[in-house]
Formats: sequence, structure tokens, C-alpha cells
Amino acid sequence: TRIIRTLKAMGIRSVAVYHDADAQSLHVQQADEAVCLGAGTVSETYLDIDRIIQIAVEAGAEAIHPGYGFLSENTDFVTRCEAAKISFIGPTADQIAMFGLKHEARRIADEAQVPLVPGSPLLTDLESAIAWASEVHYPVMLKSTAGGGGIGMQVCESEQDLIQAWESVRRLSANYFANDGVFLEKYIRQARHIEVQIIGDGQGSVISLGERDCSAQRRNQKVIEETPAPGLSDALRSDLHQTAERLMASVNYRNAGTVEFILDAETGSFYFLEVNTRLQVEHGVTEMVWGVDLVDWMIRLAASEMEPLADHKRNLMPKGHAIQVRVYAEDPCLDFQPSAGLLTEVDWPEVADVRIDHWLQPGLEVTALFDPMLAKVITLREDRTGAIASLKAVLADIKLYGVETNLDYVGNILNSAVCQSGQLLTRTLGEMTFHSPRIHVLSSGTQTTIQDFPGRTGFWHIGIPPSGPMDSVSFRLANRLLNNASSAAGMEITLNGPTLRFDSPTRIVLTGATIEAKLDDEDIAMHRVVTVHAGQTLMLGKVVGAGARTYLAVHDGFYCPDYLGSKATFTLGQFGGHAGRALRAGDVLRLNEPPSRQAGDPGPALNPTTPATSQVNTCIPEIHDSWTLRVIYGPHGAPDFFTDNDIKTFFEHEWQVHYNSSRTGIRLIGPKPEWARETGGEAGLHPSNIHDNAYAFGTVDFTGDMPVILGPDGPSLGGFVCPATVIQADLWKLGQLKAGAKVRFIPISYDQAVSLEAEQTKALENLQPLPDCPLPETTAIEHLPSPVIHQTRLGEDTVTCRLAGDHFLLVELGPLELDIAIRFKIHALMRWLETNPTPGIKELTPGIRSLQIHYDSQVLSLDRVIAKIDQALEQLQDHTDMSVPARIVHIPLSWDDEACRIAIEKYTQSVRPNAPWCPSNLEFIRRINGLPDLAAVKEIVFSASYLVMGLGDVYLGAPVATPLDPRHRTLGDVGGRGR
Ligand code: ADP
Ligand code: MG
Repeated sequence: TRIIRTLKAMGIRSVAVYHDADAQSLHVQQADEAVCLGAGTVSETYLDIDRIIQIAVEAGAEAIHPGYGFLSENTDFVTRCEAAKISFIGPTADQIAMFGLKHEARRIADEAQVPLVPGSPLLTDLESAIAWASEVHYPVMLKSTAGGGGIGMQVCESEQDLIQAWESVRRLSANYFANDGVFLEKYIRQARHIEVQIIGDGQGSVISLGERDCSAQRRNQKVIEETPAPGLSDALRSDLHQTAERLMASVNYRNAGTVEFILDAETGSFYFLEVNTRLQVEHGVTEMVWGVDLVDWMIRLAASEMEPLADHKRNLMPKGHAIQVRVYAEDPCLDFQPSAGLLTEVDWPEVADVRIDHWLQPGLEVTALFDPMLAKVITLREDRTGAIASLKAVLADIKLYGVETNLDYVGNILNSAVCQSGQLLTRTLGEMTFHSPRIHVLSSGTQTTIQDFPGRTGFWHIGIPPSGPMDSVSFRLANRLLNNASSAAGMEITLNGPTLRFDSPTRIVLTGATIEAKLDDEDIAMHRVVTVHAGQTLMLGKVVGAGARTYLAVHDGFYCPDYLGSKATFTLGQFGGHAGRALRAGDVLRLNEPPSRQAGDPGPALNPTTPATSQVNTCIPEIHDSWTLRVIYGPHGAPDFFTDNDIKTFFEHEWQVHYNSSRTGIRLIGPKPEWARETGGEAGLHPSNIHDNAYAFGTVDFTGDMPVILGPDGPSLGGFVCPATVIQADLWKLGQLKAGAKVRFIPISYDQAVSLEAEQTKALENLQPLPDCPLPETTAIEHLPSPVIHQTRLGEDTVTCRLAGDHFLLVELGPLELDIAIRFKIHALMRWLETNPTPGIKELTPGIRSLQIHYDSQVLSLDRVIAKIDQALEQLQDHTDMSVPARIVHIPLSWDDEACRIAIEKYTQSVRPNAPWCPSNLEFIRRINGLPDLAAVKEIVFSASYLVMGLGDVYLGAPVATPLDPRHRTLGDVGGRGR
């Protein structure tokens, strides 16, 4: 991205090459053209010279900028570029070769009277190594001549060490750099790394652009770099610059390079280390202080369009102090092991005089294939203190979630006295200890997710379910016992719990289904506030006895980025929570403290007030194997869809929970309904089919003959009748329904449901007994209130308002027919309600011939909702003409997709094998539509233009569309699944 930015500024077209795994990188999007190198190994992709030259030639490229790594110091590549008449933006192949091997570079430096670290020539055997070591005196450093990136060097304090290091350094060098040449250098204990940026014109003129201090290194690799280097005398500074210029002029160096020196902080002497014949990662600090663009210079030099360098430098004046941090995807607590993962949050602060070079965006997968550097963050201020302070502030505001990073680690360094006083040595970081408070997931359990309450609401109209804790009462109780904010994120645990190691102290509470729980070796109780000390391990075993889900809350909640306003995990959508999925062993979680990148911050004080055990005991929800779910009858019942007898059976039967149940829905085993109709009419073969409408949370959906109670991750829109809807106050019970458990449905009135919810909320707040309500004496059909609570007209069409539980109202229009005009009228109603908002109406979800109104019955009465609809209809009566904005979207459509076949196969195995669309949905569509062959089905599917009638379903926004051409309209199947 850094190079593309300059090319853009210079008006030069760019072609990027990229590995398949980098397809989402910013540079791929920003380049004018991007060519994929495939998904092979590094040598098959970024190091494939033939391929890259071929791409460059085909693209008509005039020059190649090699960047920092890969082929940037490869002499073959330079030669091949030249042969292809492409200019290589960098030094000549000879110059790269001269400095490519460190022992060779030392010889050239020596010739240019540059002071060398005392050391040896290339060594061929251990005896001469030992001899040389006693000459330069221990400690010495055994170095690979071809090494780089801090790899291939080892400090030896004694002959013993040297004997040990000899083979391993040589072997490593042979493996990494295909060259086992080694030599010795005196190890400078009090070393600072100071390097000089130089630029040459290839004709003997070389200028320097100041020095950089890169002493902050972990494992001999730079982490923090700055310019100017702190605490140097003017004489020393100019001596360094002149020495570097002299060396590079002696070889007529061309383009940008860096001369690295070791400065002995004890003696003030400096020694040559090596030359890097390319642009360096840390060049940005030099650019900021000198106000130049080095990539621009490199390109002009390569194009021979640069004015004489000395003239150029005369106009430049360094100004201020710049400091850079390299942000790595690595774990400082695990010896800087690279960390891979899905980035679910990426947010960079925007501050003047702060430059952040990066390649990231949310949703990008950081792989372990390449260097783990994520970003370079550079601040420029008048002085060093200001630059450090501003860098600290910027780092604290960076949000990266999904991989472990070194952000806290570098924040810690910037806070240290050695760094602030400018006395950092190359070995300092190795001697610093670092601790980062977090929670390690040692094992994950069956299905453990991060959830929050009330989850992700307001997106039902685009098919995104609320998610959140399935047993929200237990979840809320856990937060309440810790005095957490009600929005604090906690953990939902299913049947088998995770093992978690806490690095920082906190307090926890377990609620919900009773689970085996040990903190280190001690058993811990449910529903009690337990103090966890740093270093302790919480082991959660199996859920014992009744119930399916346990909840773990921690003081102040888990830290997680919000996705569409919630931390709840929706695994099917792959978003929310930790990386959009259930936890896995190896995951690292954090407590929800404001990320303070400050050393020694003790974190927030823990709230010590713990409610009395006796009080807590009164409000623990009862979990068992035999449940009564209180429901509101409707939205669809007898006599239109079910027989009276069906409804009677529905309420009288004790249903059994099917093993194939999950957060999307609870399937129930029980008697088949008789049904009041033969078929679903226009909507499908089966009498359970209706034209698609939005579902209420917790509604009981008859998918064919089998009822499914829709769960928090369930579908939003579909074409099945729902005879009853679980009341808000009982939704929590769904989370505890285990396979085999018994369920009975108890119809209650709307008013009872509303007051039960109010009482439940109050009870949870005040830790009082949870409400119960007397069971009705009879559930006979004639005593049930009708689900249809209001009927009126819009022009010719009847309007039917149906109760769908205590939070949803389903407004249906016209007969049970697919009619585009009706769909438009629904749209008009929705628009009117949107432009005339009512507090308490939460969302509006249109269906094919209906509008579902989601409202908060705790703040808005049903009467007021109905009054609002009447008002809307009144106003809409006269508006017979309307036009709505529309657009044509082209979407790829696969035919006979493998995923569909797998879905049918799964259905056959786990639900029923004899559904009409088994074993082939396509064959079924052919048959039901009376078409001669599959080709005819395909012809219709692919030639039709569709009108989107609704949007929803659990598969994230699967649209329900109808072919525009009436000839194609009959194409349908059971439940509208094929439309
Ligand atoms: P690389 O090619 O891996 O960059 P360098 O020779 O530049 O190798 O060394 C990298 C780092 O290793 C230096 O910045 C310094 O911290 C340390 N180092 C190298 N040589 C010595 C030495 N002789 N004495 C002390 N430290 C050294
Ligand atoms: Mg180096």
C-alpha cells in the first residue's frame, strides 16, 4: 500500500502481484491492476521470478519496485529484469552481491576505512573459529554470512558455547539461506543499533538522510525505530553520516540503501555491521523528519529523472522527531509466536502527523504463511518526548481484534524509563518482562460462545436473528449477581464446558444448568460469586442432570468487538463474539477492562458486594426435564389451517424434544395434525404451507407435520403456519430443552403474558422470586381467545391482525394469494409506519402479503399499535398509485449445487427420507410443474427475471423472489423453498 500510494501520487499506473491468501489485502484493491500468483508456497509465488517477469511483461510494466522482502535483494531477479528491459528500482546486481554476504561487506567496508567490529574472515572449521575467538576475546557472536532478519547469529560467552553453536548456526544458515558460511565478531554488550539512510545516483554521488536508532529489538529484530538517534554528539552524528556516504560512494552505489552500525554505548565507538541494499521497513521515520518520499526518489532515480542529489539535499532540513512501532500479529507472552486468525475489528485512529501504513480491513484472515507484520505506526512531533507521548496515545486507540498483537507489549516499552531516557540497548527488550492479563481457552467444550443480552436486534428485516443467550434468565441472573451492566458479554456453554486459565484476577458466576466445575482443585458452586486469582484454571465438565446450557459471567464482562451493535455470536452467520464462531482451544479472551497499555496498571477494583445466599436461592430458575411453555395461541390456528381437534391435541399432548435441536430451533416429536386443508394452495403442496411471512421469536412453526420452536438463531421469514408463540417471559426455557425432555404448551392471555414479563424483569433486578402464573382450568378450543384480534379493510382488501406472541403483531392483507399489488400495498404500509414512527415499535418486517410489527409490549400497548395501523390504513385508502425505487441486481446462481445435495442428504438422514423433494429437489420441481425434463427446469430458472418479494431466512438474506414473467410464476415447491 505504501508503494502504491506514491505511484498514485506520481500518476503512475500500478500492477500488484499477490498470493491467494492476500486477496483481501488493501494493496490488491488499491492497485490499478492485480494479478494472483496462486496459492502455492512462497517459492511458487512471491519468489517465482519467471512468473513475475512474465506478468510484468504482459502488463507492459516499465519498472518493478521489489518492496522490502522476497526478491528485493535477489541478484538473479535484477539480472532478469534487465534482460526483459524492465528497470529494477534499486541497486545494481553487483552491488547487491557485494553486500549480500556479510563477510564480503566487511572487506569492502574495511577498504573504505570504515571501522569494523573486531572479527574473523569466513571460517571453514571449528579449530580456526576457536583460535579467532581467543584473538577477539569472548563474548563473540557467531554469524551466518548470508543471514538476515536477526536469524543465523548466536552469542557465545565461552569456548564451550562456541563449540555448541558451531554446527547449529551452520545448519540453520544452510537451511534458511542456502549458504553455511559463518564468521565471528566481537559481541558488543552495550550495543545500540544506529543506521544511516543513504541514496546514491550510481555515478559516485551519495547523500545521507540522517540516522535512525533501531536498538529496540526482540530476538535481534527491530520493533521500534526513531530518528534522530537520541543522545549523540553532533560530531559523532556527522562522523556516522560521512562514514556511510564514503562507503557507498566507494562502490558508486545506486538508489536507496542503509548502512548499519553498532554503537558501543560504553566507549562511544561505532562499528560497521552490514549494508541493506533496499528500502527498509523503518524508512518512514526518515521521510517524516526530512519531508521527503523515498519511494518517489527511488522511482525517479531508476528512471534517471532525478536532479543531482547534492542539489536536492541542500534544500532539505530535518525537522522534529519521528518514532515508529511495528505492529506484529504475534503473542509476546508465547515467545513472540506468530498469531493467525480472522480480524473482526480493525480501527485506526486518525491524528495529524501520524502515519499508519497497513494492509488490513475487518473480515480479513491473517494467515501464518508470511511475515506477521500488520502495520507501521509513525508519529512526528517537535521533540522526542512529544513523539513518544503521541505514539502511546495512538497505540492505545488502535483496535485490532482476532489475532494476538504486540500492541500492549510495545506500549509497555514506550512507558519504560530506559526508553523514555533514550538509553535503550539492543539487549534491553530481551531483559524486560511482560505480562498481559487474559484468559486462555485450554479446551473449548461442545459449543461455547460469547453472548450478550438482548443480542442483535433490529435486523430481522434482513434476515439477521437476535442471537444472544438462549436461556436469557440464567444469563441475566449471572450478570446481576456480579453487579455487571446488563449488556456485559458472558459465555454460553452447551452440555460440555471449556477449561479456562485466567491470567488476571476476577470474579465469576455460573448459572443455568448445573455443571461440574472446579477452580484448580476445588469444586465451585453454581449461583455463587467466586473469586478467581491470577493463574487459576477453571475446569468445567459435563452438565449434570436436567437442562442443556450453563452460563459463565465474569466481572464487567468479556471484551469483544461489537458487530451490528452486539457481541452475541451468530455462528451460522460467522459473525459476532470471538471470531464469529464457537470457541476453540488456543483462543485468547480478555476481560472487558479499557485496554490500558500501561505498565503496572492494577485494573479496576472488583465490586465486593455479594448478595446473600438465601436471597439468591429464591430467584434461581427451576430447571427440569418436564416443561410447561406458556404460549399465546396464534398467529395461525383453527379453523382456517388446523382443525379444532388439532389445536386441542397441540395443547394436550406432552411433546418430546428431538435430538436434532439447536439454537436455530427445537424440533418436537408428537402426533401429526389432521389439518383443515388438503394442501397449502398456492403456497405449496403441504397444508402447513402459507405464503412467506416473518416469524416471531419463539413461535412454534409447523414445518410439514413436525413442530419446531424457533430459537434465537432461527429463521426470520418462511412459509409455514405457526399455531402458537412462546411468551417473552418463557423464552429462556428454550435454552434448557435437552433432547428427550418433555414439553407442554399452556395457552395464556396476552395480558397475562405482558404482566409476567414485567414481573420477571423486576424479580431479576431485585433478586426476588421469579413469577409464576396459575395454569388455566381448561384449554378447550372454545375457551381460547382468537388469534385474530382486529379486522378492517384497505380498499377492496381485508386486513387481518394476528397476535404472534406478546411482542409481535402480524398484519395480513387480502386473500391467501400471491399478488404483486398486495406486496406493494404492504410496502406502502411499512413506509407509512416508518415515516410516522411510534416509540415502542422496534422493527417492521414485510412478507409476501403481510407485515410483521415487532414492538415492546412493556412500553407500548396493543391497542395503540392497532390504532396506529388503523390510522395508517386510513391515510393509505386514497393512494392507489405508487412507485418505488427498484434496481436490477445480477447474481451468480449455481445449478444442482453440491451444497444443496448435501443438505437434502442430511435432511433425509436426520429428518425424514420420504419428503417429496427427496432425493432430488430439482426432479421434484420438474414433476410438480409438469415439465418434460430437468433442462426445462433449468431453462426457466435461468431465463426468468425475478422480483424480490421478501428477504430473510437463517441462511442470511436468502431472498424470496418470484419470477416476473407470469408464465414462470407457477414454479414452486413445498413451502416455497424452491422459489
Ligand atoms: P541482520 O542481517 O539479521 O539484520 P545484523 O548483522 O544487522 O543482522 O544484526 C542484527 C542485530 O543483531 C543488530 O542490530 C544487533 O542488535 C545484533 N548484533 C549483530 N552483531 C552484533 C555484535 N557484534 N554485537 C552485538 N550485537 C550484534
Ligand atoms: Mg541488519
